[in-house]
Amino acid sequence: MPIRILACEVVSKIAAGEVVDRPASVVKELVENSLDAGATQISVEAQDGGVRLIRVTDNGSGISASDVERAFHRYATSKIETLTDLEKISTLGFRGEALPSIAAAADVEILTKADVDTAGTYLQLKSNNIAKRDKRSRPQGTTVTVQHLFRNFPVRLKFLKSATTESGHIANLLSQYALAFHEVRFNLVLDGRLTLHTSGNGSLEDVVAEVYGLEVAKQMLKISKTDQVPGVSGLVSPPSLARSSRSYLSFFVNRRWVHSSLLARATEDAYHGLLMTGKHPIAIVNVSLPPPELDINVHPTKRDVKFLNSQIVYITVQKSIEKVLAKAPPPEVKTGAPSSTPPPSLWTVKGTETVSLPILRVVGQLASNYIMAEGPEGLYLVDQHAAHERVLFEKILTQRAQRKIEIQGLLEPVNLELTPKQEEVLKKKAELLGEFGFSLEPFGARSYLLKAIPAIMREGNLAEAISTLLDSIAIEEEPSKRDEKIAQSVACHSAVKAGHSLNPEEMRELIKQLEQTKQPRTCPHGRPTMIHLSSRQLEKEFGRTG
Ligand code: ADP
Ligand code: MG
Repeated sequence: MPIRILACEVVSKIAAGEVVDRPASVVKELVENSLDAGATQISVEAQDGGVRLIRVTDNGSGISASDVERAFHRYATSKIETLTDLEKISTLGFRGEALPSIAAAADVEILTKADVDTAGTYLQLKSNNIAKRDKRSRPQGTTVTVQHLFRNFPVRLKFLKSATTESGHIANLLSQYALAFHEVRFNLVLDGRLTLHTSGNGSLEDVVAEVYGLEVAKQMLKISKTDQVPGVSGLVSPPSLARSSRSYLSFFVNRRWVHSSLLARATEDAYHGLLMTGKHPIAIVNVSLPPPELDINVHPTKRDVKFLNSQIVYITVQKSIEKVLAKAPPPEVKTGAPSSTPPPSLWTVKGTETVSLPILRVVGQLASNYIMAEGPEGLYLVDQHAAHERVLFEKILTQRAQRKIEIQGLLEPVNLELTPKQEEVLKKKAELLGEFGFSLEPFGARSYLLKAIPAIMREGNLAEAISTLLDSIAIEEEPSKRDEKIAQSVACHSAVKAGHSLNPEEMRELIKQLEQTKQPRTCPHGRPTMIHLSSRQLEKEFGRTG
């Protein structure tokens, strides 16, 4: 279809707004254009978090010489024409806004060749005005180069995070598109380093192995295809393979990467009772629906979708995943009672604001999970994992404050496979992690060797612990918050698990250490470490007082 400028009645129906707010959104728009152009190979290059340079090269249809300039007009698109087209969008783009918005925010060059043309067209734009135009040879396809993004928008520039954070966003974005388009070969080079490379062989498992590592890919379960509408396909993790953040949930609707609380809920609800509180699955879920059944014109970035019949979508996704999980091998770790269960009304989670803890006498252990203790104020039920987490958390922060972190070298280094995003985080935070006692050395493409850990840390599954740790510090935060995140992550990994029986001596030691902490009544995540039944309540329940 030729590129036309949309009629104003169509324009008025398009959700208005800015599409370019950070380097990753430029990459998103350019990659979507390449995919819409039917490319089977897409290479992305970025420098300095994309601020200095972004270049996207594809082998798609290209733009014919007579159309190139028009592509930079606002609301110029080859993808829709009339109002009715808006109801059946099958392309990723349709708004005709991206190229002009990008050209308004940066210096842009395009070199493109369509099959009808003998030579390619080169166009250079500065502040959205054509600075140069000539003919150059190139094979069919398009290369768009964006330089000095936001140079004339100092406020925008100021609000951008560090180059590493922006690179992390770009790496995550490309990973998501690679997961959705397994038949397309993606390459991502960040600051001269090949960060992501997929084969484009059409196998989702292979892309998962590239993005999340072979270990994860091997364990993922396939959602079996049915003929139902909506169609649901993809891979989900068995309950034994969970993560501490939701950033491993990827949702696509007709292969468009979307944010959808509905799909997140449907997926997590399928794991109901199978995962510990705070744990989330890894999932790559694509929902296919006839275009009239959804509205993607909700937000200019097209990341939100509205389903015509959201109830059916929710149920179909939830049931499809439940069916896969029913066949999954049972989880290896004992999860204990889900701590989200609300306490019966007679138990009060009282006094989380009171800091100190009276001296307690251990009475025994309940369900290999709780320590029963008696104090001057009645009965205390202590969650052993949460209590131990609190103890370790404060120990780590104290050692850190005194710069006295104890380190243990690993006899056998642990091999880690990081996601592109995690690698960006590691590169930025390597020094900080070193201060906490971690020693990681590069070992091939996105592989690292873990050679030392803080002495406080339990060995166990260190690969998972480091992965969780890197995810938890991915967002830029002030140093004290960030230190707490690291301490939380180490404490959570190292604390005694629910389901582990403790002897009286161990229980007494744990309670003693808990008594000495600054905030004994909550775990580092803010959940209670104990519930308390006061002597008064006991008397009342037994009808001893009026
Ligand atoms: P939209 O994608 O919403 O149509 P854009 O501003 O992103 O709007 O692009 C405008 C037009 O330029 C597209 O409709 C398409 O015809 C053309 N175009 C942009 N990028 C490419 C590309 N990589 N390959 C082929 N055509 C492209
Ligand atoms: Mg577009």
